[in-house]
Amino acid sequence: MIKVAIAGARGKMGIEAVHTVMKRQGMELVAALDYKQVGTTLADLEIFPVNYNVPIFTDFSELVKYTAPDVLIDLTSPHAVYEHTKQAILHNIRPVIGTTGFSDEQLEELKQLAEEKKVGCIIAPNFAIGAILMMKFAREAAKYLPDVEIIEMHHDNKLDAPSGTGVKTAQMIAEVRTEKKQGHPTEKETMPGARGSDFEGMRIHSVRLPGLVAHQQVLFGGEGQLLTIRHDSLNRQSFMSGVVFSIETVVGIEKLVYGLENII
Ligand code: NAP
Repeated sequence: MIKVAIAGARGKMGIEAVHTVMKRQGMELVAALDYKQVGTTLADLEIFPVNYNVPIFTDFSELVKYTAPDVLIDLTSPHAVYEHTKQAILHNIRPVIGTTGFSDEQLEELKQLAEEKKVGCIIAPNFAIGAILMMKFAREAAKYLPDVEIIEMHHDNKLDAPSGTGVKTAQMIAEVRTEKKQGHPTEKETMPGARGSDFEGMRIHSVRLPGLVAHQQVLFGGEGQLLTIRHDSLNRQSFMSGVVFSIETVVGIEKLVYGLENII
């Protein structure tokens, strides 16, 4: 039985993940980590059924002391996730991280820490299998069509931009694409941000609108041709098979894996 704790249980992704773990054979949801005093157990929150007697902690050490989870899922905010991940690794709890917004330095530090402690950790900017395939196909296409622009589209409550998936896609493309500046060599923005953010000369554009969930297009341009690779997450259920896969996988590894494409 894998004992799971979750940070961010009240959030849109968190609610879905709570139900998923509660229903999953071979897993037990032992604790929730919050930063507000919202109740004693998840059952105190109106969003969950009355039989969800999962204790809520605001103190990480107490959570560990009383519930000793094997895995911590984090679906919180870019402000909280780094500290949660670090604390989990230091306590020999394996993090499964869906929250995006890590800096390169933070990722490197966590990678080293996980390796030193031999604690498995999965950081997945996107848990949806279709999104993983979109990134893999984009990397393949970039070998032949190196002019690429990424348009990522999310709901307007998202805190970080560009999205973790957008950045990860650019990083994967950069593995096979020689760095080059795209567009006209002397192009000039007459409004700041018009050309999007710049990753090794590739442009990433971030759209934020109510009604969207998580969507991305990778556009490739060549002589007389265009290729578009697109993925849409239409609801948060699309991420849950990746969450389950990550929980089951993280207990068997001893290092940090960044991106499910490395293990699927
Ligand atoms: P959300 O609805 O805003 O949920 C975040 C929850 O975390 C909120 O309930 C928030 O509480 C809580 N929270 C904030 N700081 C916390 C802390 N220090 N400790 C415990 N809980 C804390 O956001 P969401 O849409 O569920 O997304 C959550 C994260 O997952 C985001 O980073 C998003 O980009 C990411 N995401 C990842 C994937 C993936 O496949 N990897 C897919 C979708 C989303 P308050 O509202 O009270 O502050």
